[in-house]
Amino acid sequence: MNTKILKPTKENISCCAKLIKSGEVVGMPTETVYGLAANAFDEAAVKKIFEAKKRPADNPLIVHIADIEMLKGLVKDVPDIAFDVCKRFWPGPLTVVLPKSDKIPLITSGGLDTVGIRLPSNEVARELIRASGLPLAAPSANLSGSPSPTTASHVYDDLNGRIPAILDGGKCSVGVESTVISFESDIIRLLRPGRISVDDLKTVTTNVIIDNGVLEVISNDTRVKSPGMKYKHYSPKADVTLIDGSAEFFERYVSERNSAETYALIFDGDNISNDIKSIKYGGSSEQQAERIFAVLREIDKIGAKKVYARCPSKEGIGLAVYNRMLRAAGFKVIKEGD
Ligand code: AMP
Ligand code: MG
Repeated sequence: MNTKILKPTKENISCCAKLIKSGEVVGMPTETVYGLAANAFDEAAVKKIFEAKKRPADNPLIVHIADIEMLKGLVKDVPDIAFDVCKRFWPGPLTVVLPKSDKIPLITSGGLDTVGIRLPSNEVARELIRASGLPLAAPSANLSGSPSPTTASHVYDDLNGRIPAILDGGKCSVGVESTVISFESDIIRLLRPGRISVDDLKTVTTNVIIDNGVLEVISNDTRVKSPGMKYKHYSPKADVTLIDGSAEFFERYVSERNSAETYALIFDGDNISNDIKSIKYGGSSEQQAERIFAVLREIDKIGAKKVYARCPSKEGIGLAVYNRMLRAAGFKVIKEGD
């Protein structure tokens, strides 16, 4: 199969919608990362998503909709708190987990009786959903385990020959996957951090709990609320270690271990000895979110073997960057003062 990269013209979007209606999968841009989209109701089409990206069958897919009306047919009921959150943050990078209706097959929800739903703000994604007239199941369009794709060429690098087409909507503006939340009566549980931060959620209710899986190692046999969080994720081939401390501590730590295949991931504005090869991954947390996955892909391309990364802030969208870095590093963190 030849994978076509298509500009998101009206014709190309309608061509991709036809592919989806005929049971195919298509790479689509969203504001978070690129998704691999198929008809969420069609078991055979959803199976193709799992096969194309070699995703474990118990890792559920997020279902993408084009307007809030589409939500009602997909879930059993929408509690008031969920409705308030959706009204506040949709369209946007927020996924809500709710009890699924019988229309959503178990293959889509990874065997769970709940389903994650998102209304993206990206216009190309919404036009594709509208043109196909279907809710689209779409996980990130990378090979399972590798860094998520934030450009059409990242998708091509991972899935060339495995899918018919990718709609090229340019670089993703957010850069990390959506915030995922579930509800327990009037409490919001954060399952995966993203652009919509804990503070953002607290504008709806102060009852926000951060699930243990966000910052802790989850063993593969533990029952987890957000199955995707248990997998080794976002991993470059290089061995990554996070260094939690000042710029001075970072430089000293890396200098003592420097070799030809060592790279440092540092913040914009950091000054580091010329003896250490370094890549900058942003100044603000927003910039770091936008760049993190491209940088994780780049370090493999340049053949880095050992990578030391400055630890991102855990505030706002920084928590999402930290959560992804932690997984890229296999939870290896060196703390200044320990
Ligand atoms: P991806 O689309 O690759 O970003 O992955 C989707 C992620 O959303 C999963 O790996 C889960 O962590 C989370 N998710 C999706 N659906 C559910 C659900 N029904 N319950 C809990 N977490 C979910
Ligand atoms: Mg993913």
